[in-house]
Amino acid sequence: MSEAVHYRVSMPRPHSHLFEVEARFPPLGVLDAVLPVWTPGSYLLREYSRHVQDVTAADEAGRTLAVARTDKRTWRVESGGHAVTLRYRVYANELTVRTSHLDGTHGYFNGATLFLHVEGLRSLPHRVRVDAPSGWRVFTALEREGDELVAPDHDTLVDSPVEVGPHQPLFFSAAGVPHEVVVWGDPKPDPERLAADLRTVCEAEAALFGGLPFKRYLFLVYLTDKGRGGLEHLSSTALLYPRQQLQTPKGWEDFLTLAAHEYFHLWNVKRIRPRALVPYRYGEEAYTRLLWAFEGVTSYYDTLLVRRTGLMSAPRYLTRLGEALSTLAATPGRRVQTLEESSLTAWVKYYRQDENTVNSGVSYYLKGELAALCLDLALRRLTGDARSLDDVMRLLWTQSGDGQGVAEDGVEAAAEQVAGQSLKPFFDRALRSTEELDLSVLSHVGLEARTRIRESAADKGGTAPRLKASETRERGWLGIVPRSGGGIASVLEASPAMEAGLYADDEVVALDGERVDAASLVSRCDDQAPGTRVIVHVFRRDRLVAVPVTLGARPADAVWLARVEAPTEAQKASYERWLGASWDDT
Ligand SMILES: [Zn+2]
Repeated sequence: MSEAVHYRVSMPRPHSHLFEVEARFPPLGVLDAVLPVWTPGSYLLREYSRHVQDVTAADEAGRTLAVARTDKRTWRVESGGHAVTLRYRVYANELTVRTSHLDGTHGYFNGATLFLHVEGLRSLPHRVRVDAPSGWRVFTALEREGDELVAPDHDTLVDSPVEVGPHQPLFFSAAGVPHEVVVWGDPKPDPERLAADLRTVCEAEAALFGGLPFKRYLFLVYLTDKGRGGLEHLSSTALLYPRQQLQTPKGWEDFLTLAAHEYFHLWNVKRIRPRALVPYRYGEEAYTRLLWAFEGVTSYYDTLLVRRTGLMSAPRYLTRLGEALSTLAATPGRRVQTLEESSLTAWVKYYRQDENTVNSGVSYYLKGELAALCLDLALRRLTGDARSLDDVMRLLWTQSGDGQGVAEDGVEAAAEQVAGQSLKPFFDRALRSTEELDLSVLSHVGLEARTRIRESAADKGGTAPRLKASETRERGWLGIVPRSGGGIASVLEASPAMEAGLYADDEVVALDGERVDAASLVSRCDDQAPGTRVIVHVFRRDRLVAVPVTLGARPADAVWLARVEAPTEAQKASYERWLGASWDDT
């Protein structure tokens, strides 16, 4: 047998949430077996080793060897030049896409959480035997040889999550490549519709990049009570989606954008990788200023490509763009943090949000998506619609798809190559300043961004005013973000609430002597005129505090995309090329 690292994963007692793992390493003098502290695609130290227990070691003759813990993630065995087998258990009771979960219904694991590895052996094949409970099957993108799953190296093992359960998979073919879909949770979506729509999305992305770079692909879908997210992998993805929302037309459309997002990553971040993440260093943070390009550009395409397939109407697409612009406009932190800084500090800012995040940070997903929109339209304008961001992605794929990595200035260089000129002023403003994005490029496709006052507390922006001019009025504004459950999640910078001394975590109890919670406080203030003086009662660390507030005027931070007056034929044609929809389709 050729040299390899061998694992055996079993789950004899699923209700205990404990995976039982055997790891057999080839002979070494001293064996330092380590577990990653993070998993690629999710930029937070999760310290997976805290879930490892009962570690023992034995040599080939079955003799027990001493195991010493040398730091938070390392187990050391003096193996004396013999092969060593480690046995241990991993507690898995967190159902997210980047952790592991085992219960009576299934087992799901990410390699980073389960497989102790040796740094010097990472390039060896890693082979896994999974002992599934009776009636359960194993689903993964890894190749199979006999009863073993085979990863050519440790990176591929970490990048290939495994689902084990009594599931009935769906199959479809996209761009000539087999795709498999496994759904955990109920109610199950209509299988024919799910396969057909995913296939449409996959084929659109394959067409953009000129084919698919693998032999098969796996979608793992987790329908749960709450939470929306995905994690990208080389030849698979795990998607978590709220089951109730999936039953609605908007939820279905949104689920397709989530799938499109993770699928787009199979190029943009998995194969076109930031050089700062080559190789993956699993024991520490990896810093890059490029997350705006890997996450923001992917967020731009996840919706644009669903639109181009026809699975989302053009008006819905423009509404979603307007909602994103409105969210950014309501984020005071956009004036504090640049896109590059947001990318670089993901580990301590984006992934560790608190009550001050809205005031001090900006999301590299959100502003990155909108910067990608501006870049795409700028390229189209500069080249008379001959080139676009699509060409930048194809160029990056051609230049850097080998996994060697994109340098920190590589995305800008590729865009300038496509533009045929320097784009320094564009990138300096969008990435390295806190100036507002220049939305004047929308005129290239016959659109313009307009703002209005939100018409209710639930108004997310994105749409034209619903009220007639005669019905609009100034609205009272406090400037808090309510938390579900009644309290104040955040107090916005420079808002009347901040000036008056309302605090995040205050529990709102009354407005002018009448009971309210934080959400109804916002809508009640909305009904009042700016300048009205009100008394807000809150419990602050269990003490009742009365806070007088003079309401401000609600800012006009709802953004929507309107058509320019008297659009030219050229603008209409550019719009149609950009969205793949007729200008007349409203
Ligand atoms: Zn992403």
